[in-house]
Amino acid sequence: MPLNRRDMLAGLGAIGLASGLPLYAFPQTNARIVVIGGGFGGTSAARTLKRLLPNASIALIEPKATYVTCPFSNVEIGKLGSLTPISFSYTALEAEGIKVHQAEATSVDPIRQTVQITGGETLAYDRLILSPGIDFRANAIDGYDLQDAPNRMPHAWKAGDQTRLLMRQLREMEDGGLFVMSVPPAPYRCPPGPYERASLIAHYFKTQKPRSKVLILDGKDQFSKMPLFQEAWKEHYPDHLEWRSATDDGRVSKVDIQNLTLSTDFEDIQADVANVIPPQKAGTIAERASVTDSTGWCPIDALSFASTLQPNIHVIGDATIAAPMPKSAFSANLQGKICAHAIARILAGKEPIATTLANTCYSFTTPDEAVSIVGVYSNSDSRLSSIPGAGGLSPLAADKSIRYAEARQAKIWYDAITTEAFG
Ligand code: FAD
Repeated sequence: MPLNRRDMLAGLGAIGLASGLPLYAFPQTNARIVVIGGGFGGTSAARTLKRLLPNASIALIEPKATYVTCPFSNVEIGKLGSLTPISFSYTALEAEGIKVHQAEATSVDPIRQTVQITGGETLAYDRLILSPGIDFRANAIDGYDLQDAPNRMPHAWKAGDQTRLLMRQLREMEDGGLFVMSVPPAPYRCPPGPYERASLIAHYFKTQKPRSKVLILDGKDQFSKMPLFQEAWKEHYPDHLEWRSATDDGRVSKVDIQNLTLSTDFEDIQADVANVIPPQKAGTIAERASVTDSTGWCPIDALSFASTLQPNIHVIGDATIAAPMPKSAFSANLQGKICAHAIARILAGKEPIATTLANTCYSFTTPDEAVSIVGVYSNSDSRLSSIPGAGGLSPLAADKSIRYAEARQAKIWYDAITTEAFG
């Protein structure tokens, strides 16, 4: 019998938070495991490995002392809030015996099995996990150079200083201004994220700067949770938000960062605040480790998240080619746990086992209302595929109590996943 959306949501606690895999004892090993990237994927993998293999040496490499989460950053942008509630340190991981190197991995030698980090140290590994997230494609939009352009037209697609800059620009914008967002074609980090951000900024305008407007210029014609967002926009923001699809001349091909102009095929649009989310690829270190293919992303064996290009290297999170799983914190966290279990089995001389994976992405349409999409996947045959009939979208034309309940669930999910990742 196919699972319905409610069955799946009921099961997600078990699947999402415990990964659905048994926590049996593994033969102990003093293997050296290095994890690059202290985001949702890397921390989840490192903490799971430390629990499964307490004698193994687990090193996490991350340049930032504080990690600011992208999830809930749109909520803070929409209320011009603070990043403190969405900032996390690595002290809990260190207390658990994970060696945290506050450094950047500058190169990987897959033959010698070593990682070079800033400061000059070289770390040897038996298994390497890469979870470097995303980087942006240079010259994908004419005029949007990756050095200067983000200072004028922030992407805010890596949370932290960029998020603060976007909030400052919105705060300083006069009423009557135009906020323009450029959305890239897929694949990119957090498929519904741009539309959540646009909704919450439209809410800010409606309540604080009512003559202002949001214009979304999109590189595609369809997007995640589209009917739900469009329903919410019609209800809440008919005068404050406009979406333009790729076929309706929405694709931005050029920007002028001095004059804050975005150009489509037929029009130059003058913005007061411009949020350009550029096309993306796997974090640069993945390329340097030779685990990316011609797409710029990392092919993996979905049973263990082992790279199909280099031995003894695993890749998880946004950097992977894991479609139909989206590039989300939920996915990265679960992939980190599955990868950790697979490595523990491999080190014990066993084959990784197939399991069921899931993802839920909540999106706020107002500060109090949210909608969600659930996907359920299998990784048998070493590839990810959707389980037909499982998962789905929040209902359309729903009673408001459902939207309020989903907003509360989103907060509970956020507290759970950040506790799992950062302790
Ligand atoms: P990241 O979390 O980005 O972690 C990568 C880490 O690697 C970074 O800390 C980086 O500093 C580090 N790193 C990179 N290169 C190196 C190197 N060379 N050496 C050492 N360290 C390195 N997902 C959801 O599930 N739900 C949501 O509601 C949600 N909302 C979002 C809202 C927005 C606005 C955005 C932009 C994203 C959102 N996401 C959401 C997506 C989510 O943030 C990402 O999918 C998730 O962070 C991916 O985890 P990751 O481990 O792959 O990468």
